[in-house]
Amino acid sequence: MTLFERDGPPPEGDAEQAFFNWQRRGAAQFRHPHAFLGLMCNLLEKNYPDLLQELLTAGARKVGFEDMVPGHLLSQYQPEPNDDQLWVLMCRRATIETVLRRYVEREATLTIANTTYVTDVLVEEKDAQPANTLTTIGLELTDRQDANKKSQHLADIIIDATGRAGKFNSWLGAKGAKVTEERDDAEIVYYTRHYRLKPGVEEPKRDSDNPSAGDLGYLKYGVFPGDNGHFALIICIHNDELELRQAVKEPGLFDAICNSIPGIKPWISKDNADATTDPFGIGQIHAVWRDYVHNDGPKLLNFFAVGDAASRTNPLYGRGCSTGTLHAHILADVLAANEDPWQRALAFKQRTEAEIRPIFDASLTEDKRGIRRANATRKGEALDKAKSLKKWFTLAFGDALVAAARYQLHVHRGIMRTVNLVEKPGEFLKDPKIRNTIFRYMLRGRKRNAKARIQAGLERQEMLSMISHLTRQNAKAPLPAGETMNRTNNAIDEQPLSLNA
Ligand SMILES: Cc1cc2nc3c(=O)[nH]c(=O)nc-3n(C[C@H](O)[C@H](O)[C@H](O)COP(=O)(O)OP(=O)(O)OC[C@H]3O[C@@H](n4cnc5c(N)ncnc54)[C@H](O)[C@@H]3O)c2cc1C
Repeated sequence: MTLFERDGPPPEGDAEQAFFNWQRRGAAQFRHPHAFLGLMCNLLEKNYPDLLQELLTAGARKVGFEDMVPGHLLSQYQPEPNDDQLWVLMCRRATIETVLRRYVEREATLTIANTTYVTDVLVEEKDAQPANTLTTIGLELTDRQDANKKSQHLADIIIDATGRAGKFNSWLGAKGAKVTEERDDAEIVYYTRHYRLKPGVEEPKRDSDNPSAGDLGYLKYGVFPGDNGHFALIICIHNDELELRQAVKEPGLFDAICNSIPGIKPWISKDNADATTDPFGIGQIHAVWRDYVHNDGPKLLNFFAVGDAASRTNPLYGRGCSTGTLHAHILADVLAANEDPWQRALAFKQRTEAEIRPIFDASLTEDKRGIRRANATRKGEALDKAKSLKKWFTLAFGDALVAAARYQLHVHRGIMRTVNLVEKPGEFLKDPKIRNTIFRYMLRGRKRNAKARIQAGLERQEMLSMISHLTRQNAKAPLPAGETMNRTNNAIDEQPLSLNA
């Protein structure tokens, strides 16, 4: 098996070198923080316990359900049999990628061809294949050091794992394949800044009243604890929040915004942590679903797309690595169980739709809700106003669910099962005990329940006033040493990705 990779390998040394020095333009999200959820963690633990051990040795941390229970719910905590599925790995993506890459390099059946672009897919000549089929037979490759150096690689099976920038859909479409794509814009830009705790400083304790991830309506925020004292703060803003988007690119203003949010303020106090990067952003946050298997077009044979190349969700939910890992395992099962190329294609489609699609659909629903909330807040309109009885019931149920999860451990556990993707999204709502609790909370009334959603932080207008005040102040006074107000030197990747980047 040969793996073609447009980027070079990780630099010599540990994840620290990789984090600061690895040129990783092929994965634009490389330096954005990642959470690795239960679904992926359980697959790693079951199939690659040695890899998991290497990750832990490199500094990744295994954080279990009990460790994540908010303090005010701990008194209700009694272990349950499936709690051990609910755990996450905390580390930088640079750490996981470096360890994973070295693990994969030791696999004797695999060759990795670095700095090699895949620039097209090769298909069987029309006359050489049965009618109404399109069989992929290889790849066109371009050497990244020398764009004129092209070659071909023939293969029995092509697996597209080229991520969010993948172009197989266009290449195959141009050759007559039927490829359908659903694409929805989440309408957000995602900004990150990394920090490192000072030597000897512990991570701040979890604060039940002020969670370290939340939604102010116009802005979503979160802390991603990493490995070896590193952590990152993220801020997500609607595309149209132009003033805020301009502000978060400034290191000083990014910190000022984070300092105004009680849930994340303790992380970046000057006594606790130092910034290790400027803020940087990524746009083009789309939910994308691609389908290559259709009965009413040529049968596309020996081609499979996995991970982001096939199904992409909003990074806010931290699902992509889990669904990508699951998708790759589904493909391995399908290839092992079927010899016939078309049966393989059908079986892969069927399992992808059964196991990945519900996660995609739930993410899309959450995106649409997020867009509605952000638009309403920006326009100063009432949030979640019910226009019909059915809508009122849905909203009241949603508010009651949030409130019940805040105060009842069994509801919180149910939500965590969905968050960690260890069951289909929302499956926990079939549990009669959880349903009864939510209905009981509905009786308290929407107003009271809705309060559980509200995170402490400035109202939008207050935030904008603070930013404009600080901007005026900064224009008059020099910034402290180490702080920059340079609007141009941040690695903002809000442009469409280009293969020739
Ligand atoms: C800002 C952000 C934050 C995220 N946070 C999380 C998170 O917290 N948790 C989570 O689970 N997921 C998260 N995700 C999603 C996650 O990063 C992706 O779902 C995941 O990386 C997809 O894996 P993949 O292997 O399909 O693609 P990628 O990881 O993108 O890998 C694609 C690979 O293909 C290579 N490549 C691309 N094109 C070519 C070509 N033409 N020729 C040769 N090589 C090529 C690239 O260099 C790269 O190595 C986040 C995404 C973003 C954008």
